Amino acid sequence: MANTAAQPRERITNFTPYEIKKGEEYMSPEMLEHFKQLLLQWKQELMEEVDRTMHHMQEDAANYADPSDRATQEEEFSLELRTRDRERKLIKKIDQTIDRIDKDDYGFCDQCGVEIGIRRLEARPTATLCIDCKTLAEIRERQTGI
Ligand SMILES: [Zn+2]
Repeated sequence: MANTAAQPRERITNFTPYEIKKGEEYMSPEMLEHFKQLLLQWKQELMEEVDRTMHHMQEDAANYADPSDRATQEEEFSLELRTRDRERKLIKKIDQTIDRIDKDDYGFCDQCGVEIGIRRLEARPTATLCIDCKTLAEIRERQTGI
């Protein structure tokens, strides 16, 4: 029963990196479509994971009779529930990002407005900050301890 509470996929596992055509402007319609497909694929993978987790929990519930097993089971369940919660949040974020793509409001830093960059977005398609602003935000988070 290993890995029942695996982390949700934080990124897409396999995709073809976008090849920028000569003279192509940043976030051209083709580029936006590329990221939309990436996000849809990622969402699909996450939803399959949610299904698997659900299935697992139903299976496990039927298999434990012993009280000491039940404690272990409860621990596993709470882990799985947390994983599912994260999966749900990620899926919501993906939907919001797809919405931004549809509104042609994608790929630029929310904070300073610079291009986030294709490679960074391929690694993290839901990113809304450029790497500089993200780093700053993380430093601030650590300092305030939130
Ligand atoms: Zn920025």
